[in-house]
Amino acid sequence: MTESDGPLVVAIGAALTALAAVLLAYTLRARRRVLEVSQPFPPQWRSLLAQRVPLYGRMPADLRLRLEPLVRGFLADVEFIGCQGLEITDEMRLTISIQACLLAAGLGPRAYDSLRSVLVYPDEFVVEEADEDEAGVVTEGARVLSGQAFEASRIVLSWRDVLESGGADEPYNVVLHEFAHYLDHSVGGALTAPTAKHPTPGSWHAVLEREYAALCAAVDRGEATLIDPYAAERPEEFFAVATETFFEAPRQIRERHPHLYRKLQGLYGLDPAGWT
Ligand SMILES: [Zn+2]
Repeated sequence: MTESDGPLVVAIGAALTALAAVLLAYTLRARRRVLEVSQPFPPQWRSLLAQRVPLYGRMPADLRLRLEPLVRGFLADVEFIGCQGLEITDEMRLTISIQACLLAAGLGPRAYDSLRSVLVYPDEFVVEEADEDEAGVVTEGARVLSGQAFEASRIVLSWRDVLESGGADEPYNVVLHEFAHYLDHSVGGALTAPTAKHPTPGSWHAVLEREYAALCAAVDRGEATLIDPYAAERPEEFFAVATETFFEAPRQIRERHPHLYRKLQGLYGLDPAGWT
């Protein structure tokens, strides 16, 4: 080794220290998860979910039990952060995590591996955004949102909207909506991006594209639709809104959009129209 190797040795030493720190953090996180998942699910959590989450009330008992370790793991991995002075409660953590885990029930416990935090605002929140149109014209402005899931590591939700989700009047559910976006983003948009000019008839993409086009046409004609007209914004929104409808109005969507229902049933590995 020569004197000129000095900086190289220091750099390698620093890189190894950083790697060791990352591995340690990863190991601690994995250990915390194993410990957390093995803990029993407190009965008061079950009562709280039954009282506060209408969707939980409709789930079959075996599905509820299957979700409990997923919720434990989710709570161990994901930090909940209250914004604008909002204090995070067990009700918030459980209400959000049970619905997030419901979507992941058929996808496996690693579905939210990259997610680090859920930010909760008391009400709708404002984000500054810059939009570029097809001509390259950039418009900057503020948007008021009830939820946002455009980053790999965090999801933002308005608590008021979480509480309004699952009401009897309309198939609205901001938690399912944002976590559906998250799952789509986590596979690089593969669930909603067109993959070929002519997708195989009956495939996921063929059904999604046909249903999306039909919804856009119905909205253009001014017809009332089961799937909220907001879904006509973009295929990504169609997928997120269809997910809300799949869980919040399952029998109606199965009756009016049977092909779409079957595809969502396959994706999520669940049959909510069959729940009593
Ligand atoms: Zn959306």
